[in-house]
Amino acid sequence: MNLLALDSRWQRLNDPTYACKCCGRSFGGLVDMGFGQPDCWPHGALTDGDTLTVGDDVLTADLCVFDDLRFVHCVVPLPIRGSDEVFLFGVWASLSLEDFKAYVLDATGEKTGFAGAAAWLMNDLPLFENDEPLECSLKPAESDAERPRLMATSGPLAQAQAEGISFDQLLEIYAACGEDLRPHLMG
Ligand SMILES: [Zn+2]
Repeated sequence: MNLLALDSRWQRLNDPTYACKCCGRSFGGLVDMGFGQPDCWPHGALTDGDTLTVGDDVLTADLCVFDDLRFVHCVVPLPIRGSDEVFLFGVWASLSLEDFKAYVLDATGEKTGFAGAAAWLMNDLPLFENDEPLECSLKPAESDAERPRLMATSGPLAQAQAEGISFDQLLEIYAACGEDLRPHLMG
């Protein structure tokens, strides 16, 4: 069996009928978390529109062009140890211009067969802080409904992606992203 099934906080997170005594919140599973833009994007968040354009710079929900840099919205998969669940952390990765063009052509329906590319993580992830963009590998999405996956090539993030993170680390990540669920899982 999955060891986390024994953790009452995990049971409450995944039970759609659970309601927090203090505020009534219920979760019914893992909460999605992520960044709306690369950390270096200077023009603010995408709000109600589909596209934020400032001069030649462009931000959409999927792509970002800033100066001579090109980014795609992707996810860092982090398996949760003791469960079958994988937390998908929404992030932005920079690609070379050539790889970005190949990615966009493939993503916009021409299906040119984008097979992945070297990429750099452009957000500072809680628990995995980096002083510089982290070298990664971008893997194509497994279906149209999914985002491409970003896999670190070395270091603590690569280790976490291979071995998983603990439920407590997941709750720490949530808290660092402004969603501290810990008080709401006390039963
Ligand atoms: Zn509460």
